[in-house]
Amino acid sequence: MKKLFVGRKRMIVLAIATLTVCVGIYWVTTNGKDMPELPSEQETTVEEQKTEEIITIKPAETTPAVVEKKITPPPVAEPSPEWPVILTNTEATSLTVVINKKHKLPSDYVPELTDVTGGKMRPEAAQALTSLLYKADEAGVSMSVLSSYRSYSTQVSTYNKWVSQSGKAVADTFSARPGHSEHQLGLAADLGNGTCNLETCFGNTAAGKWLANIAQDYGFIIRYPAGSDGATGYQYEPWHLRYVGVETAKAIVASGQTMDQYYGIPAGDYQ
Ligand SMILES: [Zn+2]
Repeated sequence: MKKLFVGRKRMIVLAIATLTVCVGIYWVTTNGKDMPELPSEQETTVEEQKTEEIITIKPAETTPAVVEKKITPPPVAEPSPEWPVILTNTEATSLTVVINKKHKLPSDYVPELTDVTGGKMRPEAAQALTSLLYKADEAGVSMSVLSSYRSYSTQVSTYNKWVSQSGKAVADTFSARPGHSEHQLGLAADLGNGTCNLETCFGNTAAGKWLANIAQDYGFIIRYPAGSDGATGYQYEPWHLRYVGVETAKAIVASGQTMDQYYGIPAGDYQ
C-alpha cells in the first residue's frame, strides 16, 4: 500500500510538472509570436522616424555654419603703402614734383643750381624769383630772400636746431625732416622784409598780401596756405614760395586746392 501510494504521488508530481512545462511552452510560444509583431512594426517605425529626424536635423545644424561663412568672409588684407615713398633722382628733377611728409627725396639728390640773391636755386626758379623781387621793389614792398636751396645735410642741422628749440612735435609743424624739404629741390624760397619774418603774421603785412596776390604770375604758389594744416601737414607759411611754372601755379591757385590735392597725391602727416 505504501509503495502504491508513493507511486501515485510520483505520477501526480510528474503530471503537474508536465502540465507546467506545457503551459510554459505555450506561453513562450504565444508571447514570442503575438507580442513582437505589432510592437516590432512600431519600433521600426519609430527608428525610421528617428532616422528621418536625424537626417532632417543634421542639415539644419550645418546650414547656419555655411551661412555664417558667407556673411563673414575672411578679412582681406588691404595693401597699404609704406611711408615715406622715396622718389628717384630723375623724378625729383620735375618742376612739378610733389614733396611732402609722405614723399621724400633721396639724400644724395642735388639739383642744377645757379646763384640768386641770398643763395642758390634752380635756374628756372632763380630767374622767376629775380623778376618777382624786382617787381616788389617797384611796388614798394621790397623783400629779401631768407632761405633758398638747402642741401640734405643743411636740412639735417636746420631740422635738429628747431627740434632742440621747440621739441619734435612742434618742429614738425613748420620744419621738414631731412629729405622732405622743398628747399632741397632748389625750387623753394622763404621771403621776408623784416616784419614778422618766418611768422604767420607776415601774411597780414603789405608785403605778404602783395606776394600772395602776385606770386602765381611768376610761377610761384604759397605752398602751405592758411587753413590747410591737415592737408599739407604744415602750418600756414605765407613766406614759403614753391616754383611750379606760371601755367601750373595759376591752375593750382584757381582750383583753391593745395598742390598735393591738385595732383591727388597723399599728404598730411608722416604716417
Ligand atoms: Zn621754406
